[in-house]
Amino acid sequence: MAGLGLCAGAAGVTRKRGGIAILGGGMAGLSAAWRLSEPGWRDRFEAITVYQRGWRLGGKGASSRGPHGRIEEHGLHVWMGSYDNAFAMIRECYVELDRAETDPEAPIHSWDQAFVPSDHLGIADRFDDDWLVWPGGLARNDELPGEPGATGREFTAVDFLRRALRLVLDLADSLPLPDADAQGPTAADSTAEWLQVVRWGILAMLATLAKPLGRETISNASMTHVLDAIREALDYEHRPDHRRFWLFLSLQTATVRGIIAENLMTDPRGFRAINDEDFCAWILRHGAHPDVVDFPLVRGLYDMVFGYEDGDFTRPALAAGVALLLTGIALFQYKGAFFWKMTAGMGDVVIAPLYQALRRRGVEFEFFHRVDALHLDDRRQAIGAITIGRQARLADGAKEYQPLIRVGGLPVFPNRPLAEQLDGPAPGDLESHFGDRTDVETRVLRKGIDFDHVVLASSLGMVKLVAGELIADSAQWRDMTTNLRTVATQAFQLWLRLDEQTLGWNHPGVTTSGYVAPFDTWASMPQTLWAEQWPRNDQPRTVAYFCGALAAEWPNAKDMADPDAYVASCREKVLTDAVAYLDNHVGLYLPGAVTEQGFAWQLLFGANGHRGAAALETQHVSVNIDPSDRYVQSVPGSDKYRLRSDESGYDNLLLAGDWTDSGCNAGCVEAAVMSGLQAANALLGRGHGYRIRGFYQL
Ligand SMILES: Cc1cc2nc3c(=O)[nH]c(=O)nc-3n(C[C@H](O)[C@H](O)[C@H](O)COP(=O)(O)OP(=O)(O)OC[C@H]3O[C@@H](n4cnc5c(N)ncnc54)[C@H](O)[C@@H]3O)c2cc1C
Repeated sequence: MAGLGLCAGAAGVTRKRGGIAILGGGMAGLSAAWRLSEPGWRDRFEAITVYQRGWRLGGKGASSRGPHGRIEEHGLHVWMGSYDNAFAMIRECYVELDRAETDPEAPIHSWDQAFVPSDHLGIADRFDDDWLVWPGGLARNDELPGEPGATGREFTAVDFLRRALRLVLDLADSLPLPDADAQGPTAADSTAEWLQVVRWGILAMLATLAKPLGRETISNASMTHVLDAIREALDYEHRPDHRRFWLFLSLQTATVRGIIAENLMTDPRGFRAINDEDFCAWILRHGAHPDVVDFPLVRGLYDMVFGYEDGDFTRPALAAGVALLLTGIALFQYKGAFFWKMTAGMGDVVIAPLYQALRRRGVEFEFFHRVDALHLDDRRQAIGAITIGRQARLADGAKEYQPLIRVGGLPVFPNRPLAEQLDGPAPGDLESHFGDRTDVETRVLRKGIDFDHVVLASSLGMVKLVAGELIADSAQWRDMTTNLRTVATQAFQLWLRLDEQTLGWNHPGVTTSGYVAPFDTWASMPQTLWAEQWPRNDQPRTVAYFCGALAAEWPNAKDMADPDAYVASCREKVLTDAVAYLDNHVGLYLPGAVTEQGFAWQLLFGANGHRGAAALETQHVSVNIDPSDRYVQSVPGSDKYRLRSDESGYDNLLLAGDWTDSGCNAGCVEAAVMSGLQAANALLGRGHGYRIRGFYQL
């Protein structure tokens, strides 16, 4: 990276001082800033400045506080126990903040007060015409995510195979014991018999699969025969648990068979070798029963990554290799618990602490700075200038915008700009690409004057808009922006007067997926209520977060001719779908919240006699259609077009975001953090994988 100005000094390689502009303050941009600003950073760089549109940080992981200090998220966020890089960073951040000393009033001082293990998982399971909830959980272990000094190792196809086979054996061992009181075909004696058949069958199957591990040894006919025998021994048609078990077996068998048949254990590309194919197509090709495609765990996997093209739930799309890698890491490498949930908003317990610690280190933040275009220099080898729309000016005397307020002592982001710090009224929606653009000024940052190095950390949808010159200049950029896909998302949160138990739900804190589109995911979030500021004598007892993909295609020229109408029509669609969901479907989880007339709107805090969409408008509804807010997908055939953080092709440009090739190529917090750290590594002249933890194919 010649343009970074490396030069040899007496003590080895040193770096010319220069300024770094980080464009975008989401998890990736903040992670890049975190590593770049480690102790001693001023010896290397003049300044590190984060340019961020609007008044808050966090991007897709942003949350802020609304009426009664309620937590308003961009969309439901949970962290997986396998997010070792993200947890390591947030743990470092809390240690450095040392709130016990520096801010004893703040109710959250440490990472383990900010996150709690979350064991209750649920999957919605359709059985004939009925929906059931398949509650579950994965056993806790005594590890902790992000332990100081931990490293991690590569997670290979061989690991996956070993653990998958183990899982099948464990599952067979956990099959229900004969029920002495059972009647009919599942009575005790025949149960004992089928249990025996199932166990022998599994052992026979594992023997076929495992010895020796070569593609020529797999006899599809014999495997199918054993699977059929197991299926016949089960009451597949009538018992949901038997059906689940067999479908799980079919899924696992197909997966293991596929890994072996395609030599993924020895292929240097590992799971990447199958990223051109959709996961469902891949398992079907390796003999999974057709019903597996609708198996709740498979649907839940697609739901988790909003894996539907253009938000169309009839077009599931998830690269097979990404699916295997993610499930493998999530299932087999989690620390503590499978999920960890935040005890307040992600803006409160992750983004605000990062902002505070970075600020303390001397990183600067330019809020109300919307990046509009990157410009190449005359040689077309580096970023020469950046055009920025300045959305608001600070009030006289204000040196910098201070974005945080306190709610219950906790530093948090408000849900609108703090007008008293601004010169004039706060302009309209500062986070919307479709909103009013009456900027107070156009700023042009120039290389060598305002910056030397650039970290592009605004998300993929926005990259397409601001990097037009690069896309016109470079085939790699054209390929990347054409082949990677994004999808709009939607989310809403409800605050209800009755507790979950009274409403009919007995697993507080559960996170469920796999249910009807578009709000396929629901999370019970009672652990956040303490942080809100409801009147003492009138407090919500249930808070519920719903989320899913949104079929809102990239706006066309007609939409852009009247952007307000486009935004309004998307919002109306979300409200209509949410009302239909509450009237017709939420009863699966909260039967007590539904009457014969549909959803009991009077249960909502603040609904004040309104019903339907008007009542929902009193809750928090998030319509995520902004280009940068669109979720980055992992559709088949796209992985090979991702660029690594250090592969922009321009001397002074690094890339950071869950859209880069970080090794964890899916839209998640861990990918964003890894990418930010990798961008920093490149700028610091370190190897791509330097101090990156985990099990990824970097
Ligand atoms: C609804 C939803 C739910 C999710 N749930 C989970 C979950 O449970 N667990 C999980 O791990 N992941 C989840 N994700 C994914 C996760 O949020 C993202 O992977 C992660 O936040 C991406 O971070 P990023 O920094 O790459 O991008 P972003 O968060 O998009 O950050 C981009 C930043 O750039 C700023 N920006 C954009 N354009 C401009 C501009 N022109 N000028 C200046 N600034 C700009 C943005 O405001 C933002 O601050 C979810 C995503 C969505 C949409």
